[in-house]
Amino acid sequence: MLKGKVAVITGGSRGIGFTVAQKMAENHADIALIDVGNIENTQASCDMLKVFGVNARPYQCDVSDFTAVKATVAQIVKDFGTIDILVNNAGITRDSLIFSMSEENWDAVININLKSVFNMTKHCSPIFLKKHYGKIINVSSIAGLMGNAGQVNYSASKAGIIGVTKTIARELGARGICCNAVAPGVIDTDMTKDLPGRDKLIESVPMKKAGKPEDVANLVLFLASPVSDYITGEVIRVDGGMAM
Ligand code: NAP
Repeated sequence: MLKGKVAVITGGSRGIGFTVAQKMAENHADIALIDVGNIENTQASCDMLKVFGVNARPYQCDVSDFTAVKATVAQIVKDFGTIDILVNNAGITRDSLIFSMSEENWDAVININLKSVFNMTKHCSPIFLKKHYGKIINVSSIAGLMGNAGQVNYSASKAGIIGVTKTIARELGARGICCNAVAPGVIDTDMTKDLPGRDKLIESVPMKKAGKPEDVANLVLFLASPVSDYITGEVIRVDGGMAM
């Protein structure tokens, strides 16, 4: 389904990002994984993708850093020749109620979750514009749709991603570029394993269970593939019905 395509996935060495990378590699896309931490972990994730016979390379970059993203995107184009698919998945949480939230935690979450989407999309767009093709998939959250007590920074960043998604869809749609967002609910990853009140939260899910990274990755794969070529500016929940 993705043969000949190059996919860039931020936050790709673990959790939802890595599962997206696996789905895309299974479908024959070459993969560039961007993470902020130890590059050896990202290299190990790339090695796992190579069993699918694809090219997979690790990049260490803080996606909130405009200049670093510019250099990383340039390096990816040098290594792979092009970019066809961008998955803006990297994200963090720094939770607390607003009266105890520090400026530092507000800025960190807005910069890593939201500014990163601007940085990556801005630097990848010229490549998509030249080839009249591109698939941008942004990982938002139901917190961006509903709000969530204790997550004013995270909810704002994820709601911001929805605004970016719809604007990019309008700006670039005529040039064959699709931009969509996915909004996961509670998904089993490192991010949610110690979530306070997790059991109570799951109780509020109509399907009475957390999702798996595969549930999100299947949707991202659909949005990255030609079968969704007439879908843009959409926000699709993967939440077991939690936010309906
Ligand atoms: P995760 O397991 O905590 O993984 C986060 C990934 O983001 C890691 O690969 C991490 O890289 C990377 N990252 C963090 N800061 C970065 C930075 N400054 N620059 C580059 N990469 C950075 O998270 P996840 O649960 O898979 O979540 C993935 C996305 O889904 C996030 O945007 C999250 O907000 C969203 N989401 C998750 C859930 C859920 O229930 N899990 C629900 C809704 C939305 P390192 O490994 O190098 O640290």
